Amino acid sequence: MPRDTTDTLGLGEVVSNESLANLLREERKFAPPAALAANANVTAAAYEQAEADRLGFWAEQARRLTWATEPTETLDWSNPPFAKWFADGKLNVAYNCVDRHVEAGNGDRVAIHFEGEPGDSRAITYAELKDEVSRAANALTELGVSKGDRVAVYLPMIPEAAVAMLACARIGATHSVVFGGFSADAIATRIQDADAKVVITADGGYRRGKPSALKPAVDDAVSRIKSVEHVLVVRRTGQDTAWTEGRDVWWHEITGRQSAEHTPEAFEAEQPLFILYTSGTTGKPKGILHTSGGYLTQAAYTHHAVFDLKPETDVYWCTADVGWVTGHSYIVYGPLANGATQVMYEGTPDTPHQGRFWEIVQKYGVTILYTAPTAIRTFMKWGDDIPAKFDLSSLRVLGSVGEPINPEAWMWYRKHIGADKCPIVDTWWQTETGAMMISPLPGVTETKPGSAQRALPGISATVVDDEANEVPDGGGGYLVLTEPWPSMLRTIWGDDQRFLDTYWSRFEGKYFAGDGAKKDEDGDVWLLGRVDDVMLVSGHNISTTEVESALVSHPSVAEAAVVGAADETTGQAIVAFVILRGSATTSDELVAELRNHVGATLGPIAKPKRVLPVAELPKTRSGKIMRRLLRDVAENRELGDVTTLTDSSVMDLITTQLPSAP
Ligand code: ATP
Ligand code: MG
Repeated sequence: MPRDTTDTLGLGEVVSNESLANLLREERKFAPPAALAANANVTAAAYEQAEADRLGFWAEQARRLTWATEPTETLDWSNPPFAKWFADGKLNVAYNCVDRHVEAGNGDRVAIHFEGEPGDSRAITYAELKDEVSRAANALTELGVSKGDRVAVYLPMIPEAAVAMLACARIGATHSVVFGGFSADAIATRIQDADAKVVITADGGYRRGKPSALKPAVDDAVSRIKSVEHVLVVRRTGQDTAWTEGRDVWWHEITGRQSAEHTPEAFEAEQPLFILYTSGTTGKPKGILHTSGGYLTQAAYTHHAVFDLKPETDVYWCTADVGWVTGHSYIVYGPLANGATQVMYEGTPDTPHQGRFWEIVQKYGVTILYTAPTAIRTFMKWGDDIPAKFDLSSLRVLGSVGEPINPEAWMWYRKHIGADKCPIVDTWWQTETGAMMISPLPGVTETKPGSAQRALPGISATVVDDEANEVPDGGGGYLVLTEPWPSMLRTIWGDDQRFLDTYWSRFEGKYFAGDGAKKDEDGDVWLLGRVDDVMLVSGHNISTTEVESALVSHPSVAEAAVVGAADETTGQAIVAFVILRGSATTSDELVAELRNHVGATLGPIAKPKRVLPVAELPKTRSGKIMRRLLRDVAENRELGDVTTLTDSSVMDLITTQLPSAP
């Protein structure tokens, strides 16, 4: 079928031949702290080594893992884009994340400091984790789960989530974690798509100071699906729970009677490890398949390199949910493969008070913190005085993931959380890439607020124009990955054709990430938001990110989302939705001031036609702004897929607040 190559995502967006306009100028730079640089896990030599021999570099990184059979072949790219990494090697992923640390004499090291929302806490050592994972593996085996079967996991942020995932990995079953907050419909489609045999859930979890039930949604979902034989239920809140005899099994009962001995079998490197759905920011979520050896290699290497992790002394905390890829790679697989000590927190950042995160950093002496721009902007809105009440001096590296981070949010993070000394690593990657791809290295890179900067050692990324030509420094276009990487997705589960169409058909031989990007004069990469969000105004492609960052740099604005809405004279007109800071109030003067502020910062072409103050913005459950819904509103269209929206009433609120179009 002939395709219109300009309509890359089938959303009717036409991007012109002209590359993305480069409007934002950011001159600030921060050198790595000397002491960190002097002791860094990874130095600039890694880039050179990987450039000289990319596959040799990854073969060496694979040796961070313990293999039952060492791989002799690094990459099989004989049938692109279907990759096989380390194909003749065999390993057990759970053994790598747990047992080997115990065998190395580190069984007493805390793997997980669990902090429940109500304030309960638990420290789980690697030796204890080994026992728990072994019991759970034995329990799954008793329930008839074996290699290749799929298991759905729908849990709150409790240690059992990691245990359940590792137990699946240990027996060669493929997990599909569904964010514990999705509706019965979302669970049902994901269970069905994966054809899962067992679902692991809990009675509930704590959310905003209250127990919040989980099992009713699973009961509803499972009642429509034949494949599910058993529902395993963790008791977390103790709330009343409906029970289906014969199908439902209490986690503590079945694991409690298992042996803590379990011999991990070695599986092929390409054994499917998990299926995970993307966040649904741009449309219907895609079921991404990841496998074992290559995935774990890159998750472990990047966690070691980008966070400069020292497992003996660091206390690491990633605030993501295990229901997202960040939780998979940087709560479960990367940190545990590296023998890290980490914090796992169940609840929301404002329960019981808005300083909860900083209280946790202080309590555990967190040294490495990994969070998202949406959280940082929220903390900015809450005020500088809140983190100032806590001792954050243990922190030494800060990370960001999930969206482009606005330079003003980056500066706030550095100043108010990082005491003006911690390097910030802005990590670009996707569910599909499995692990970090573009990021500063904390002991090497002179960081720039708002830029992910450079492909990591062993990763090949660049920015191209419509004709697939690499743009020169200073130019903008599409972010592409030009060489296969170990933790790359292997396909979209059950839909090879969609895998080919979505990622590999836009530019011959290159992976199309769907994100716009530019290169600055030093060749550093700046992410500019989704390609399908790019606005075309009077013949210029303008990125949403740059206009939003300009708005957020105004003292009255806490958050901003901009979209291009059809316009008779300019093709598209920029419409900005803004959340004001607590102290600011809406007025025609303020709206005019904000429009002029953007015009002055980025140039007259980027001046929004309309600025609409709103109370909330539509976000995915993972906290990302869903511009496509705002575009639907701005163009008076019916809303697209809203299943991954946090709160669907937000859209009603925005629609009723909107003044009619001028
Ligand atoms: P869907 O693919 O279903 O639309 P999604 O893309 O939001 O959802 P994820 O895989 O969770 O699903 O998110 C990956 C995307 O998040 C990237 O493609 C990019 O747009 C954005 N992103 C992640 N980290 C960064 C970052 N550090 N800088 C800029 N953008 C980022
Ligand atoms: Mg995506």
